Amino acid sequence: MALESTPNHTQTVAGWAAHDSSGKIVPYIFKRRENGVNDVSIKVMYCGICHTDLHFINNDWGITMYPVVPGHEITGVITKVGSNVKNFKIGDRVGVGCLAASCLECEFCKNSQENYCDQIQFTYNGIFWDGSITYGGYSDMLVADHRYVVRVPDNLPMDAAAPLLCAGVTVFTPMKDCQLLESPGKKVGVVGLGGLGHVAVKMAKAFGHHVTVISTSPSKENEAKHRLDADSFIVSTNDEQMQRGKRTLDVILDTVSAQHSLGPILEMLKVNGTLAVVGAPDRPIELPSFPLIFGKRSVKGSMTGSMKETQEMMDVCGKHNITCDVELIKPDQINQALDRLARNDVRYRFVIDITGNSKL
Ligand SMILES: [Zn+2]
Ligand SMILES: [Zn+2]
Repeated sequence: MALESTPNHTQTVAGWAAHDSSGKIVPYIFKRRENGVNDVSIKVMYCGICHTDLHFINNDWGITMYPVVPGHEITGVITKVGSNVKNFKIGDRVGVGCLAASCLECEFCKNSQENYCDQIQFTYNGIFWDGSITYGGYSDMLVADHRYVVRVPDNLPMDAAAPLLCAGVTVFTPMKDCQLLESPGKKVGVVGLGGLGHVAVKMAKAFGHHVTVISTSPSKENEAKHRLDADSFIVSTNDEQMQRGKRTLDVILDTVSAQHSLGPILEMLKVNGTLAVVGAPDRPIELPSFPLIFGKRSVKGSMTGSMKETQEMMDVCGKHNITCDVELIKPDQINQALDRLARNDVRYRFVIDITGNSKL
């Protein structure tokens, strides 16, 4: 969008952007809107690198509006508040996730489910209310409507908390929907041990469940059991182990974004069990009917969380001291990090140290 049509975009911001599908990230100076009555300005401290960023940078889904400034796992400190903002003040530690705006009027917006509003706009590569394209957290400053901002609990470090804003809430919401917050002692499966999966294991353990990690990589067993405290580990390519795991789990979270069949995973659910899909393979997933029918099982999706759920997730993480395992990088290492992320070579999330300061 041309600057002439958004005359209040007067604030100069330093960020990092991809300009075409070659996917190279370079420094980029751009404008953000003035801090409006409903806005807060945030000095960005840390921003996680989500797998979604990689898809947008490379235009994998054909919907990228270049230049794209990615980043929707943002933590920082408030530097300005608009006159309508009563719940935040300058100096507050806050986070911004995937959502930038929604219609505020539909049944989903009115019932704190605005993540399912059909006019939802995202933190980057979205169109804000004023018609401007949104730019994300790979930048030193952000202006956000206060209704899409959450608090970061004081005991959580800002770097390791950043990925909670997307990865954390993405796995938290389906767990909450499956009543895992209030009824401990369930058998929970987590498929895939990456950025989403490792937080899911931590949360499920904190909520008092027996956790089984299901992975294609036998090499992750030690880490899953000893560092993340998982109770059990199944190698999905090992038929004997998969056979033994049949009908053992109440709820499974599938976090895998690579192509795979849901059939063998469904078989591991007890009768009436639920499989929540949060990984997003870019082609249709294989869903055989027999394990569904013979086990009266359900498959459901879940897309990030509402702002209310995001705050609840943050507070729960604060209470249980749950953070992500992160590898901190400097902004000039973003391209290397993206290359490594494409090869799944990260334990478990890259986080950009935007200011270069040490931990706060
Ligand atoms: Zn994300
Ligand atoms: Zn709406």
